[in-house]
Amino acid sequence: MSEAFNVADIFGENVFNDTVMKERLPKKVYQEVRKVIDDGADLTIEIADVVANAMKDWAIERGATHYTHWFQPLTGVTAEKHDSFISSPKADGKVLMEFSGKELIKGEPDASSFPSGGLRATFEARGYTAWDCTSPAFIKQDAAGTILCIPTAFCSYTGEALDKKTPLLRSMEAVNTQALRIVKLFGNTTATKVTSSVGPEQEYFLVDRDKYLKRKDLIFTGRTLFGAMPPKGQELDDHYFGTIRERIAAYMKDLNEELWKLGIPAKTQHNEVAPAQHELAPIYEEANVAVDHNQVTMEIMKKVAGRHNLVCLLHEKPFAGVNGSGKHNNWSLTTDDGMNLLDPGKRPHENRQFLLVLTAIMKAVKTHSDLLRESAGNPGNDHRLGANEAPPAIISMFLGDQLRDIVDQIIETGSATSSLKAGKLDTGVSTLPNLRKDATDRNRTSPFAFTGNKFEFRMVGSSDSVASPNIVLNTIVAEAFCDIADELEKADDFDKAVDEMIHKLAVENKDIVYDADGYSDEWIAEAEKRGLPNLKTMVDAIPALTTDKAVKLFEKFGVFTKAELESRAEVQYEAYAKAINIEAKAMIDIAGKQIIPSVIKATIDLAASINEVTAACPDADVSVQKELLEETSDLLSETKVALSKLQDVVVESETKAEGEEKAKFFKDTVKPAMDALRAPVDKLEMIVDKDAWPMPSYGDLIFEV
Ligand code: ADP
Ligand code: MG
Repeated sequence: MSEAFNVADIFGENVFNDTVMKERLPKKVYQEVRKVIDDGADLTIEIADVVANAMKDWAIERGATHYTHWFQPLTGVTAEKHDSFISSPKADGKVLMEFSGKELIKGEPDASSFPSGGLRATFEARGYTAWDCTSPAFIKQDAAGTILCIPTAFCSYTGEALDKKTPLLRSMEAVNTQALRIVKLFGNTTATKVTSSVGPEQEYFLVDRDKYLKRKDLIFTGRTLFGAMPPKGQELDDHYFGTIRERIAAYMKDLNEELWKLGIPAKTQHNEVAPAQHELAPIYEEANVAVDHNQVTMEIMKKVAGRHNLVCLLHEKPFAGVNGSGKHNNWSLTTDDGMNLLDPGKRPHENRQFLLVLTAIMKAVKTHSDLLRESAGNPGNDHRLGANEAPPAIISMFLGDQLRDIVDQIIETGSATSSLKAGKLDTGVSTLPNLRKDATDRNRTSPFAFTGNKFEFRMVGSSDSVASPNIVLNTIVAEAFCDIADELEKADDFDKAVDEMIHKLAVENKDIVYDADGYSDEWIAEAEKRGLPNLKTMVDAIPALTTDKAVKLFEKFGVFTKAELESRAEVQYEAYAKAINIEAKAMIDIAGKQIIPSVIKATIDLAASINEVTAACPDADVSVQKELLEETSDLLSETKVALSKLQDVVVESETKAEGEEKAKFFKDTVKPAMDALRAPVDKLEMIVDKDAWPMPSYGDLIFEV
């Protein structure tokens, strides 16, 4: 048991945050740095030197020996390369601890092996990391010692983004500029900045480490490639929000403590729908910091699990047949004078600015639903989207009763004259408090739902960075704001022009709104009628990145160049092909070396038992044993045929051109061959003696944590 502590005392203790800077930097330097953080001014090398020195002293006092530029290449995980603070030894053989402004602001990792989709081959092989002073530096303590981590952007020699942070920062600037035009139109004279806020709810599984180590599929791919369903699944819903078991609670406690020390505002924790599945939600932060914090959170979740002899699975679909994991991306826009542009207020039908923002978002999502869908694509998520546990792969918006009613009024009559009121909740018990209901119920089946004062994008996969969805959200909304502001800034009668604009936007984009059951077949048919894209897989969605529409959008707002978009599409295709290739090879390995030998042994044992029983009792009825032996042998032969087929197509994949062709081959040919191998193996698992099965079952993994 760890000692009692006060959360407020430990919160942020490992972060070089504003308070630390205020304490440790000369006042003038502090003000300069603040200006860079708040307004994006240029940082001089003199200032950087002072900051670097203060950062180094602070880190060394906490035991740090090394620093690293911490960045987010296109692999989806974070990268670091540690350098110690020691200077070259002096004549007396002693060293000093040094860290210069230059080392703080710029790094040059030899990062030629990170995916660049051909960008660096075309331009220049070098990659640089540049200090992102808007996300505070922090120290990480683990077996590698104590490391000062400096969040950085990662770019090529000629400035092309090679990471997820650079375009995110660019998109935040774009939406800031355009949103400011909108609030100014409504007479706001005090706001100087609009920031996108993000709160990502993180789902995950915890399994016992000893059992995990017996599952090669989990080790190599993060998900089970074989596995029959246990007799009990999640149908009782007895896990969801259930009492948290002690072993898990101890993990959560430890995890929270680590996160709080890093200034990550972990807030909510509960059991999720599937057995062994849980969720952690932080309090929302500026998009950039929220994305960094989510990356750190995922890393710490895995690290802390090890201490409890658990393994944290972040894969979108670790187990077939039970719910997978996602990451709800809550998003809103806030001005620096304290206004949430997505807050409808008490009388939303009269809140013109809100209605303009809402209908602008409708336009943005309608116009670029393909991009939003693409931003949530990863190989794991293909198992979830559209599988009745996550939203379908079709993007639509849920507004809820109140806003839906207002938008309908606007569409029908040009304006709205009333807002549905939220009622009181009558529990029928006099001793319970009277609760006010939200004006809007929830709709879990919608991929993009309005939830009170934010939108919740629910498609993102649990293992993914939330950078891409927020890059897309910020940029598409910036575009809608820009188009709208271009018109409204010219208007003579502003009020009239705004009303007309809201009406026009609502009418033109109403097809993106869908409030009913997004899991139903009716919706698939209806969406097709409406012409909404249904991009079923990650591979189907990748072309959205490089359409003329997308290139125009991203170039206009300086978020991506055409070359950057093309490189990202290439990286996505390659990531897909690689992921499925690893899965296929792991299946081949497991089926060939573990499953088939175990099943052969089981058939030998069965045959022997038939002989033994017959020898002991010639009249005994051995039909059950015989039937089982026949069934097992048939499935074994089916397995071998499917295994050979999978081996063949994996070999064939090597003849396909890198990129789209290969990715499509994996999707259309390799994946079906994997499914064909899994089917007989899962049937075998149901009939073969448990002791003979070479790995822990689903039941062992998810019910016995
Ligand atoms: P819910 O249960 O509706 O999903 P919560 O209030 O628990 O909602 O919020 C879920 C996540 O949304 C949390 O990370 C929370 O901090 C975040 N969130 C709340 N308000 C906002 C907002 N205005 N902008 C962005 N994220 C928000
Ligand atoms: Mg939520």
